[in-house]
Amino acid sequence: MASKKGNLSINSENMFPIIKKWLYSDHDIFYREVISNACDAVTKIRKMDMMGEYELPEGFKPRVDVVLNDKDKTIKITDNGIGMTAEEVEEYINQVAFSGATDFLNKYKDKANADQIIGHFGLGFYSTFMVSDSVDIDTLSYKSDAASVHWTCDGGSDFEMSDGEKKEVGTTITLHLSDDCLEFCNEYKAREVIEKYCSFMPYDIYLSRENEEGTETIKASEKLDSDVVIEEVHPEKKEGEDKEPELEYKIKRRPQLLNDTHPLWAKTPKDCTNEEYLEFYRKVFRDYKEPLFWIHLNMDYPFNLKGILYFPKINMEFESIEGTIKLYNNQVFIADNIKEVIPEYLMLLKGVIDCPDLPLNVSRSALQNDGFVKKISEYISKKVAEKLAGLCKTDKENYDKYWDDISPFIKYGCLKDDKFCEKMNDYILFKNLDGKYLTLPEALQINKEAEEEAKKEEAVDENGNKVEAEVVDDKSEDKKDEKEEKEPRIIYYVTDEQQQSQYIKMFKAQKMEAFVMKHNIDTPFMQQLESKNEGISFKRIDADLTDTFKSKTSKKAAKELEEKEKEISEKLKKALKNDKLVVKLEKLKDKKMSSMLTVSEESRRLADMMKMYAMNGMSMGDFGASEGQTLILNANHPLVQYVMDNKDEKNTEMICEQLYDLARIQNAPLDAESMTKFVERSNEIMLILAK
Ligand code: ADP
Repeated sequence: MASKKGNLSINSENMFPIIKKWLYSDHDIFYREVISNACDAVTKIRKMDMMGEYELPEGFKPRVDVVLNDKDKTIKITDNGIGMTAEEVEEYINQVAFSGATDFLNKYKDKANADQIIGHFGLGFYSTFMVSDSVDIDTLSYKSDAASVHWTCDGGSDFEMSDGEKKEVGTTITLHLSDDCLEFCNEYKAREVIEKYCSFMPYDIYLSRENEEGTETIKASEKLDSDVVIEEVHPEKKEGEDKEPELEYKIKRRPQLLNDTHPLWAKTPKDCTNEEYLEFYRKVFRDYKEPLFWIHLNMDYPFNLKGILYFPKINMEFESIEGTIKLYNNQVFIADNIKEVIPEYLMLLKGVIDCPDLPLNVSRSALQNDGFVKKISEYISKKVAEKLAGLCKTDKENYDKYWDDISPFIKYGCLKDDKFCEKMNDYILFKNLDGKYLTLPEALQINKEAEEEAKKEEAVDENGNKVEAEVVDDKSEDKKDEKEEKEPRIIYYVTDEQQQSQYIKMFKAQKMEAFVMKHNIDTPFMQQLESKNEGISFKRIDADLTDTFKSKTSKKAAKELEEKEKEISEKLKKALKNDKLVVKLEKLKDKKMSSMLTVSEESRRLADMMKMYAMNGMSMGDFGASEGQTLILNANHPLVQYVMDNKDEKNTEMICEQLYDLARIQNAPLDAESMTKFVERSNEIMLILAK
């Protein structure tokens, strides 16, 4: 071929500065572009062989070699792939416009952050100019009549094409690095970048240094044809051994294999062992804590997607959760944590997803509007829900064990993704006070028995004689059913086992169950479940007093109680100098409990929300601390009876104050002033005792 000079057929005066500028933040990406082109070329030649259009030489091993030379400041990337004829170089490399570069220029000229669009427009090869003063291509096509081609371009708009000297089929790209990019021919840097992008590319990638002075010694039986032998070594015979020692060779250090061509995700799940999953996790995420379990995604329909998602073990109290999901296209790394493809809540996990149907190089803004990408995200979410549901159904024991660790992901998922929430509804667990895990349907049933039991109890008077009960159930069966359907089912929960211990004690005494919900995420999560499940409501254990805790009384006694409630309420309001105080007089089964406080669920949630806003520096107006509180006095307790019977005794006021503080103290810590008063008053009371 006569040497040919030409002009790249797009406005490359414009193109190179743009490439350089746009890819600046990410300019190590040229390694990925050139190595993945090399892998594609190898795939193509194997296809030709399979189709009978070409016969690969005996013992052909597909490979890509990256050879660094820090003296000459070059990087050579060689593949034994399909190669290019002069016409193909002309078409694919020179006429860049062919692959849409004009489009690229027009569309993205003014955009600042178009970091991954280069390849999208078929400009991957040109990313080499980000780091090079000039680039050479030496290539020999597999076609029988092809001649080898040498192409060179200095990053301006001119190139030169001539006969080449390449003898083997394949392509070598030589980058003559610019002085400010010499780091890329440093062995460690090159290894780091190649491992980042190419760890799982489908053909062996070797790294070596052309001006390598290092050597290694190997046994003769380990010698490969490609080894460069420097000298033979004859080891001395060791004492006591009869056999002659094996011949050894001192060889030039071998190229280092950088990738794993058969990543675990590409295997069929049933062929993978636990040890392999763990090893893969350690290697890819450099995390030496064992993950709890994993989900291996492997689907061909409706699109091709493979991957492994690991649920890491986390300590909620000390660690923030930060996951990594690595996205690949046919084993070529695209990026970490692309939120358009992977549901947000899954970003808390660690995993790999390989989706060949995804465009390799696209800008994130393009991904956002891509319906197909959205479908992938939904599909991953669906698969994860299915796997979790399956685990809950078939291996509940382990699911229970994992629950504390995996629940933040699941709850977050439920909040972020309605469909996921619906799918997980019956597989969400609630941990009861004895550490047992129940599903939502189970949790909803659990207190029914205790409530039924309470309904059946007979009313008795103070002397233990049976009396007619206050509530007469005269409803027909039909009406009862109707009522049950509409009746909200309540799930009681505890946020602080220590602080709420009095209530817990009462609950346990009545064989009632409550569940531990103590993480920040639980508050919005419960709200989500309430909105998704009609008729379900969550109440903190101190939110109200159900009939279960009250002893049944006669109608007459109930009437009397009502009247006394008015009186004692006035008494307390006066004693505590608090007009707003809400007092209820009840006959509690627990005869040792004199007073307690309930805080309505709505008011408390509102107060919690206010607190949160306040923490974020927002003010939502005044919201009194005692809002929604009810002071319950136990008419069955002698102290309360004393107050009822001795309204104006000199100690009555003190008893009222003490009853109120005792109720408050069981509910939440007292403020400083109240605490001081409480201690003073307690001392005074003891003094009376001591007299
Ligand atoms: P893309 O790979 O996105 O098409 P590139 O600019 O990276 O864009 O490459 C343009 C074309 O040049 C490729 O599609 C391919 O046909 C050809 N090419 C690039 N590198 C090689 C290679 N190592 N061997 C054979 N052909 C190559």
